[in-house]
Parts: sequence; structure tokens; C-alpha cells
Amino acid sequence: MLSDRFGRTIDYLRVSVTDRCDLRCQYCIPKGFKDFETPAHWLTFDEITRVVGLFARMGTHHIRLTGGEPLLRHQLPDLAARLAALPGIADLSISTNGTQLGRFAEPLRQAGVRRLNVSLDSLRADGVRAMSGADSMAAVLEGLAAAKAAGFDAIKINMVPIAGVNDGDIEAMVAFCIEHGFILRLIEAMPMGPTGQASHSPDLAPIVDHLARRHALTPSAAPLGAGPARYWRSHDGGFTLGLITPLSQHFCATCNRVRLSVDGTLYLCLGQEASYALRPLLRAGVSDDDLEQAIRAAIELKPERHEFVEAPGKIMRIMAKTGG
Ligand code: SAM
Repeated sequence: MLSDRFGRTIDYLRVSVTDRCDLRCQYCIPKGFKDFETPAHWLTFDEITRVVGLFARMGTHHIRLTGGEPLLRHQLPDLAARLAALPGIADLSISTNGTQLGRFAEPLRQAGVRRLNVSLDSLRADGVRAMSGADSMAAVLEGLAAAKAAGFDAIKINMVPIAGVNDGDIEAMVAFCIEHGFILRLIEAMPMGPTGQASHSPDLAPIVDHLARRHALTPSAAPLGAGPARYWRSHDGGFTLGLITPLSQHFCATCNRVRLSVDGTLYLCLGQEASYALRPLLRAGVSDDDLEQAIRAAIELKPERHEFVEAPGKIMRIMAKTGG
């Protein structure tokens, strides 16, 4: 098992396969942003498979592909199939904005992806445009329909409520998730980069209280997945609501994850600078044992917690660079 100096077991690796995205969500990539990683620095599928295989050998069984927008990476289903086939990988999932899911849902399911998280911040076309910077709603809805038809074990909708922009859209999103059997997760905006620092979520606790009363939800164990959300469920099991509160109620003491960015940097915490560059080692041809030692050394650097509340201006790295 991989564990850090605070006794936390690291059994979840998020792998960013690109830092590019076709959307410009107002809390994520700034409009006009040009500082993307050069393709020569992108880890190849062989390099990603090697790193994931080593993590799996050390007990990390949950892998999530993310980005940027992971479905923009050419031939992603091929990578998914290679990762799903690795010994020790129990759970392969993807976070996506859904715009390309119409084409890719079925190939990804066939490749062995079991669960999908789809980001969607509104169900109004102008609300989606305001949040994502694009007229993406129709494509995302088509993608979600394809994902539902493909038969994933779970589809979660990730929504980041921003005060005064889309916090009035939560009830409609609840109804949509009930209709389609999707799990809804509300996520507090994190002060990552100038965009995240300018974005503020409303207090989600009273919203959850209201939803719990209205839909007779009671606290529930987590559904499939290894994340930090707290969950509530309806009595008939038809609706599950998750809440991810990195600011108002952080969960660093149980953090079980690290992130591999597209350039092969291992980020040990979303809200700290601690990182370890694996690409130079990969490209210097080091042995698996040496790479494993490097990963263990990196895990030693994992900070105890973020400081999003105490030092909200600290992290200038946007989420799409780390691999959200
Ligand atoms: N493109 C994919 C997607 O949309 O899910 C994967 C990458 S995206 C960076 C992953 C998640 O991070 C999305 O749910 C997005 O809403 C969220 N995100 C991005 N910036 C954020 C921020 N500053 N605070 C909270 N969530 C953020």
C-alpha cells in the first residue's frame, strides 16, 4: 500500500490526459489563456500506462481520467482499454464536460470505463453559455443520452453553483437527475487561479437542507466511487445528492488521492504547490523499481491540507492544469 506521512492511504490516482478544453467555464480556464503544455511534454499512452501500472502494483486501484477535457485526447478509448486491462485496476472512471460523449460514450464503456462524471452547471441554454463560455448544452444533453444508453454503472452530474449565476438552477437539475437516474453532486468553487479566485459559491448547507426536506432525503453511504462527497438519498433510492465542500467543511484528513498532470508532474494536493516531476525519470529510462521509489518519495511530500480559506490567493494553477 502507498501511504503518506500523515497515515493516509493513497488508493486513488487522477490522470490528466490533456490540459486543453473546448469550454471556458468561468471558474476554470481564463478566456484567452495560452499557457498550455507543449505536446512534446505530454505523456504518451505508453508512459501513462507504465505509471498507472506501477501505482496499481502499490495498491492504487481507483483511476480517473480527467483534464482539461479528456475526450479531446486522440484515441482516448485505446488508453482506457489499456488501463482497464492492467492487473489491480478495480475501477476506471472519467470526468468529462460531455460535449463529445455522443461519439465516445459507447466506445469508452466497451473499453472498460465503469463510471462517468459529467460537468453541467445549468439546464438553461443561456445559463450554460454564461457558465461554460459556449453554446454547449445541446451537445452535453446528447452526450448524456448516449452515456445512459451505454449502461455505465453510475453517471454523476457535477455542478458548481456560483452565487447569482446558476444557483437558481439547482431545483431544475435535481428534477433532471431524478428523471434520468443520475446522481447530482454540488461542488463548492475553489480559489484556483484568477478564475477560481473570482468565483464564489453560495452557502450550500441551507440548499441541501431544503432539498432534503422537499425530496425526503436522508444521509446515505457513498454510492460507487472513492471520493470526498457526503451523500443524501431518497427513500425509494430514486435520487442521490452529493455535496463536496472543500472550503466550508474540508476533508483533507481523509484525502486518498494524488494527480498526474499531462506533462508527468505528480501533484500531491489541489491546494498546495507540492509536486514531483516524473517525466524526466520516465524519459531517462529508469527502471520500474527506481520509478516506484520516486513515486514513494513524491507521496512523502503530500501536504497535510490545503489553505483555500486561509490563503485564497495562494494557488495560481488553474484546475485544468492540475487535472481536476
Ligand atoms: N473537463 C472535465 C470536466 O468538465 O469534468 C474534467 C476536468 S474539469 C477541470 C473537472 C471538474 O473541475 C469539473 O467538474 C469542473 O466543474 C471542476 N472545476 C474546475 N475549476 C474549478 C474550481 N475553481 N472550483 C471547483 N471546481 C472546479
